[in-house]
Amino acid sequence: MEQKINDELIGVIDLLQKEKTVCLLAPSFPVDFAFPEIILELREMGFTKVVELTYAAKLINYKYIEILRDTPERQYICSNCPTIVKLVESKYPEQKDKLIDVASPMVVMARFVKREFGSDFKTVFVGPCLAKKQEAKENMDCVDFAVTFKELCDMFSYMENAGLLKQIPDTKENLEFDKFYSDITKIYPIAGGVAESMLNKGVLQKEQIIVCDGPTTFDIAMKDFCEFKNFRFIDAVFCKGGCICGPGVISKDGVEARKERVLQYKDKSRFYQPDGNYGKFVHAFGLDIKRKKDA
Ligand code: SF4
Repeated sequence: MEQKINDELIGVIDLLQKEKTVCLLAPSFPVDFAFPEIILELREMGFTKVVELTYAAKLINYKYIEILRDTPERQYICSNCPTIVKLVESKYPEQKDKLIDVASPMVVMARFVKREFGSDFKTVFVGPCLAKKQEAKENMDCVDFAVTFKELCDMFSYMENAGLLKQIPDTKENLEFDKFYSDITKIYPIAGGVAESMLNKGVLQKEQIIVCDGPTTFDIAMKDFCEFKNFRFIDAVFCKGGCICGPGVISKDGVEARKERVLQYKDKSRFYQPDGNYGKFVHAFGLDIKRKKDA
């Protein structure tokens, strides 16, 4: 049966055929795809390089910790989830200065790969999120397209039927991500993952953090946050359960099963890291990781 896909996805396929491209794969990918096979499949589709966002998440974590340490009197709202950012800007405009001034993992990683691999590389974010499409449009200088996991599967089927997939040997290199990664931030897509990955850094106590997922709990959290200044940080995501439950995910499994798959990947991936230490901050020295405001 002929696979139908929209103009946006045709545009991505066109890019894959004609340009050098980097796939920015969201860390929730184990919910829908087998590791490391997904990396080979992405190369078959034509991606020149395949990176995960965990390295950007590590840079973000480091910056969050620095900001929280340097301004102990201030409260902050995590700005990783674009829907939460929009919600704060529209519903709580008097609180928008508390959105931490750091871009999301997608944007930071896109800026990093353009600098590292070359500005002639085009970037395609692949993840669970629909809101990333708008965020990509607001950051066109570094993100060319944002597609969901569902859309990735549709594109793969389309390309397979049309004979557009490349023959890529399943060598060790082709089954590995291109360099730059971090292990600790592989839990980012699980609700509360941002706060958890910062907890042992000594700048925040558990009782100073509010973790919330879903719009209703966010409103409750904001009420507490505004009322009680002892709360210093809200780790908020719009989707119940975190990005592992984003609208672009294919899986129909429950939250616990999805979480388990991300955690299993975290353990398994250690054996598939590229040689050398590619998680060091020094690679990103001087990179601008600030958020674009009022885009
Ligand atoms: S929580 Fe949902 S809306 Fe927010 S970044 Fe994740 S998938 Fe997107």
